[in-house]
Amino acid sequence: MRYAIFGDIHANLEALQTVLEDARANGATDFICLGDIVGYNADPVPCLEIVREMKCPVVKGNHDEQAAEQTDLAYFNPLAAQAIQWTRDQLNQEQKDWLRSLKFNRLVRNFTIVHATLDSPSSWGYIISDLDASASFSYQHTQLCFYGHTHVPRAFVRDLRVNELPPTSLIVEPGKKYFINAGSVGQPRDHDWRASYVLYTPETQTVDWRRLEYDITTTQKKIIAAGLPERLASRLAEGR
Ligand code: ZN
Repeated sequence: MRYAIFGDIHANLEALQTVLEDARANGATDFICLGDIVGYNADPVPCLEIVREMKCPVVKGNHDEQAAEQTDLAYFNPLAAQAIQWTRDQLNQEQKDWLRSLKFNRLVRNFTIVHATLDSPSSWGYIISDLDASASFSYQHTQLCFYGHTHVPRAFVRDLRVNELPPTSLIVEPGKKYFINAGSVGQPRDHDWRASYVLYTPETQTVDWRRLEYDITTTQKKIIAAGLPERLASRLAEGR
């Protein structure tokens, strides 16, 4: 058994297809989605339908929440707000209902998944420092939890204290807790434009981050053609 754990797709169809192909080629048997399927980029409907048809565990992201509501967008930055409004116009009621039905966190076998934080999953805080991670660890009742939201792949481990680990490969050790960010499929923000996700293999207790080049030119052309802000296309190439 091998889990492919991916999130922050943000309506980037080319990146999603590349990640799913890579996961299958690497023996993934189970798929887990960490939320933010929509928002920012130009293919919310195909991305939503692909994830929905996989019938895999999915948690709700802040962009999924906003796309499904008619709430005020004043608290979003202008680029995000414009993209959310555009996304709302693309989705039908049934697709919005499905997004609305997603839970904030879930237990999958013996690990947890959440989009943002475990201490307050619906507040959409960002876990950036060891201190942020410590707060979430207090609410983590499983050895492993996978999350997204920051679009920055990394991991925190809690032993006697909390430390950060690089997003390459790790072996889960007994007695320690791990809070693992899979990075972003469709809009990475660690200055590396390639799509990010993780493979988790319970049998060997290994977590491997994967980075993949995809057809970014097509994604950028679709963003421009849709009338979305040009900045959303250029930032993809910068990985921020
Ligand atoms: Zn996101």
